Order: sequence, then structure tokens, then C-alpha cells
Amino acid sequence: MNKIPLQNFDPEVAGAIRHELARQESGLEMIPSENFVSLAVLEALGSVTTNKYSEGYPGNRYYGGCEYIDIIEQLAIDRAKQLFGAEHVNVQPLSGAPANIAVYLGLMEPGDTILGMDLSHGGHLTHGHPVTYMAKIFNFIRYKTDAEGKIDLDHLRQMALEHRPKVILVGYSAYSRDIDYAAVKQIAEEVGAITIADIAHIAGIIAAGHMNNPVPLFDVVLTTTHKTLRGPRGGMIMCREKFAKILDKAVFPGFQGGPHENVIAAKAVAFKEALQPDFKTYAKQILLNAKTLERKFREYGYRIMFGGTDNHLLLVDVTPQGLTGKEAQLAFDKAGITLNKNMIPDDPRSPMNPSGIRFGTPALTTRGMKEPEMELIAGMMNEVVEHRADDAYLLGVKERVGELTRRFPLYPELAR
Ligand SMILES: *Cc1c(COP(=O)(O)O)cnc(C)c1O
Repeated sequence: MNKIPLQNFDPEVAGAIRHELARQESGLEMIPSENFVSLAVLEALGSVTTNKYSEGYPGNRYYGGCEYIDIIEQLAIDRAKQLFGAEHVNVQPLSGAPANIAVYLGLMEPGDTILGMDLSHGGHLTHGHPVTYMAKIFNFIRYKTDAEGKIDLDHLRQMALEHRPKVILVGYSAYSRDIDYAAVKQIAEEVGAITIADIAHIAGIIAAGHMNNPVPLFDVVLTTTHKTLRGPRGGMIMCREKFAKILDKAVFPGFQGGPHENVIAAKAVAFKEALQPDFKTYAKQILLNAKTLERKFREYGYRIMFGGTDNHLLLVDVTPQGLTGKEAQLAFDKAGITLNKNMIPDDPRSPMNPSGIRFGTPALTTRGMKEPEMELIAGMMNEVVEHRADDAYLLGVKERVGELTRRFPLYPELAR
């Protein structure tokens, strides 16, 4: 076994990791799906549990030597149940997309119809975008948001009655409002559809009790663990007892092989963190920070999609300012502000050069930033848009970004 420390054995990889650490610390991370995990989560992630094969589930494995792995996985399951009030939990999905796929394969036959949210209205790639293999296997149909930006429940019901889908799916990655799960459930009952919610983006806010929780109402709820939930990169499926066997089988052996127990250990640690009282304070601050950005962007005269935000993110049309989402993203990059270009509802432009930008507050809030910093940041963002063509000016903003982030150290304990 190699005994030489990483820095000495592989300076190329070690150097790139060090630079990545510096990048994360010195910039403003505003991609709404990103966050920063604790050192405890990092420690579990880098533990010897990565060495272990444990196909199967706690107490019922295909391999010997799983007694400690069983403890870890059971802790993750029990804590997730407590966090969301779930009847059954599977913590093995390797990420959000594999969780989606396992659920689709578990609940549907090829050719079955699934009603999901229109992608330009905030839905996710994994909800049947034509570029995915799932779109070849299942028949995806779509509902949209209404003129006010809320999910159009009349349209959803009309689509459900017309197409009689096997599954109704709600969930999003660029939508900024809450969802009336009870109303969706009622429509699903009317047409006999199974209900799935994909809460990948907002799981942490739901766990903290600051947004509606679909878990007590819906048949199946799936999520990532690395977004607002602030755990390791991974996925998770929660469901009613009725679907437990079929979905466990869909994950393994239906779709995946051995679970990544180091990630499951890190999930268990993150769930314990999310059960602490200060996680509620954190999630509340995510929302307050997003509201502050919304207020400032309104003052600056931007076109905010969906009528505002109930969660951690904002989708803003920048074309009235005379630039595209792609041009905006490029200018923000030069200023040390990381966000992404994004389609707006029924966007006349293309996904590679759309009309909007999407940004959010989970990562900045983890650093300890609050309303006063959000006001500063909104001001700098507006300057970036106004001075997008002036590289020297953008460099000046980047310097101010550096001053701000130095006041909110991220991982002072880590070697560099
Ligand atoms: C992020 C996301 C996913 C995919 O998660 P990955 O971990 O990137 O595979 C799925 N669904 C929604 C709604 C998401 O936001």
C-alpha cells in the first residue's frame, strides 16, 4: 500500500484540490444547488467505510463483515425518518438522477405515462428531458406555471384527466415558489395516479419546517442530500410502507450494485446536523437572505420570474437589461460570483444561451452571511450587469468580493 502522503505522492491532484479550496473560499458561491459540508461530514466521507462491499440492506446482506456498516446505514435511515416523518427510507441511491431512475423503473412499465413539470418552467432534466434515456422509455407529458408564476393546478388537472397518467410528479430545480401538495394529491386520487415529489433542491428547508412537506401526503418523495440538506453528494428515497419492497428492489438489485457506505456514513452525520436546533435557524436564514436579494433586485428594476421567491432561489430574466443569461454568467464569473444561466418559462432563446440567470443563498448562508451582506451582494451583482463589458471594472468588483469573503472564513482548519 502506498504510504506517501497525498501532497508528496501526487502533487498534481493535491495542488488542484488546494486550488479548489481557495476558489471556494474566495468567491461568492450562488449556484442554488451547491453548499458547503461540515468537517464532520468530510471526515465520514473520507473514512475506511469506502472499502466495504455491502450489497443488500441492514441485517440482510450478500457479504460478510457488515456489522458496523449495518449500524451506520440504520442510523442514516432512522435519522431521515425522523427528519421528514417518513414511513420507509432508502439511503443507497448514488445521487439524485439515479434516485429518479430507480423510482421510475420501480413504479412504471415501459411506455407508461408520467405527468411532470415543464422543464422551462423549472422542472429538472431527470424529469424526462428529451436528451435523457428515461424519455425513450416512458411517456412524459407536462404541466406549466400560470401567468402569476404559480403551478397551474387547473392545467395539471386537465392534463391528468385527459391523459390518465400512471404517475404525477412534482419537483423542480429552477422554480421559486412552494407547492400545494394536498391539491396535487387530490387530483392524483381523482385519476388514480401515484404521487412522486422530487424535493432535491429544498429538502433542507422542508426538514427544518419552513416549507410544505410532501412526505406525509405523497406516495414517494425523493431527494438529493447535497443541496440545502447540506450533506454529501448523494440521493435518497422516502416512501409509504406500501412501496417499500418494490422501491428497495428497484434500487438494488434492479438498478445499482454495492452502496457507497462512506457516503451513507456522511449522510448519517449530515442528518444528525439537520436534526439540531441551529439547522432550523440556518434554513430560516436561507429564506430571509433570498427575500433580501428579491427585494433589492426588484428595486433595481429586474424582471423576477414566478412573481418572487418562497425558497432559496431566484430566476431572473436579464434580457430587458440588454444581455443574455450566458453573457451575464460570463461577466459574473469575471467578478468572482458563481451562478448559472437558465431558461425562463417558455424561453424564446436556447438552453445554451437562455434569457435568465438562476442564483440562490444556501452556500452563502452556510458561510454566515445575513441580510446586510445580501444587500451588498445585490448591489455588486447589479454593477456587474451594468458594467459587463468593462473587464477592469469587473476585476474591481472581484476585489470587493474577495474582501467580503475573507470576513466569512469557510474552512480555516484545513491545511493549504
Ligand atoms: C439536482 C436535482 C436532481 C439530480 O441530482 P444529481 O445528484 O445531480 O443527480 C434531480 N432532481 C432535481 C429536482 C434536482 O434539483
